[in-house]
Amino acid sequence: MRMPPFRFERPAELRQALDLLRELDGAGNGYVLSAGGTDLVPMMKSQPVSVGSLISLTKLKALGGIRLDPGKSLSLGALVTLGDLSSDAAVRETFPCIAETAGKIATPQIRNRATVGGNLLVDNRCIYFNQSEQNRLAHTPCFKAGGETCHLVPKTARGDDPLCRARFVSDLAPVLLLLHATIRIASTAGERSLPLRDFHLPDGISRNRLGRGEILTRIDVPLPGPSAGVLYEKLRIRNAIDFPSLGVAVSLGRIPGGGTRFGAALTGVHTRPVVMQVDEAARGSREESVDSLIAGISRAVTPFRQGFFPPDYLRKMIPVLIRRNMEKLLRKA
Ligand SMILES: Cc1cc2nc3c(=O)[nH]c(=O)nc-3n(C[C@H](O)[C@H](O)[C@H](O)COP(=O)(O)OP(=O)(O)OC[C@H]3O[C@@H](n4cnc5c(N)ncnc54)[C@H](O)[C@@H]3O)c2cc1C
Ligand code: SF4
Repeated sequence: MRMPPFRFERPAELRQALDLLRELDGAGNGYVLSAGGTDLVPMMKSQPVSVGSLISLTKLKALGGIRLDPGKSLSLGALVTLGDLSSDAAVRETFPCIAETAGKIATPQIRNRATVGGNLLVDNRCIYFNQSEQNRLAHTPCFKAGGETCHLVPKTARGDDPLCRARFVSDLAPVLLLLHATIRIASTAGERSLPLRDFHLPDGISRNRLGRGEILTRIDVPLPGPSAGVLYEKLRIRNAIDFPSLGVAVSLGRIPGGGTRFGAALTGVHTRPVVMQVDEAARGSREESVDSLIAGISRAVTPFRQGFFPPDYLRKMIPVLIRRNMEKLLRKA
């Protein structure tokens, strides 16, 4: 597998980087952004089409650092590596689940380069697309490769939404969603902030709301978190390297004025992360609340055969992982 040729740029300041993106867009020149490059570089090798310029973000100090504002928020720079996230004392103290989840991603070598921002923006996966060029040449190009067909769901036609059912695989997203994280995005027009839950899109090609000329700068997690915290469990064949075939995060929180709020978020089984919360007061009992949460979130996802586990098995594992981790949280509460 060979890298296609590209122009390399590594701006030193955020403003410089944003001006460069605007200039490239204005001239109609293509570019890709690279943080740790652990998702992007293998993709460039397996899809050897010219990308124009590769803009490395690694020098941008504004995207670095973990800042704890006591009583208010934990702010994570988009360039914080997963290795640093998993070992940082402030993260382990305030949100141990973030640190533990980061430590379950890929391998130590990859976590030393891979970043939290890159994790939220990681490309969706499909067994027909994420292959070597030779493998893909065995069949006609699918929509995501610029063609006019989908091998996973052959009845899909151009104009359908979603056009591509490649699955969302970020491990950190479900945890950050249950913690009500917001993200900050910079462009030459200024900075905008939006809840993470509004960021991802239901299509495996367009994937999220990051626009051209925009850079994800920080992820903010409000304090205090849910009272009994968040737990994440990942279903995979090997205990390292593997992406989640199914990732389940659960949360248990107190509602202002009394009562318990049960939350769950899934990754790996749909085109975007899916999150749901149920209040005990609205359901009557703890058991009914958890049953309702499981029924609702299971209805919202569509697992496809995408590797080791058949879709039926994945469907059966959703309640297993939600109940198992909810019980652990209830014991702690
Ligand atoms: C063998 C292997 C195993 C893996 N296992 C897992 C796994 O178990 N779980 C998992 O979640 N992921 C896994 N990954 C995917 C990937 O390593 C991680 O998701 C990682 O966090 C991506 O971060 P990065 O900094 O390397 O992203 P990059 O590769 O640099 O970028 C990823 C995407 O995000 C964009 N981007 C990155 N940062 C910014 C920014 N600040 N602003 C705008 N755009 C940006 C890039 O343009 C690119 O499109 C694995 C990868 C490999 C190679
Ligand atoms: S789901 Fe997406 S990536 Fe997979 S074959 Fe269909 S269009 Fe291609």
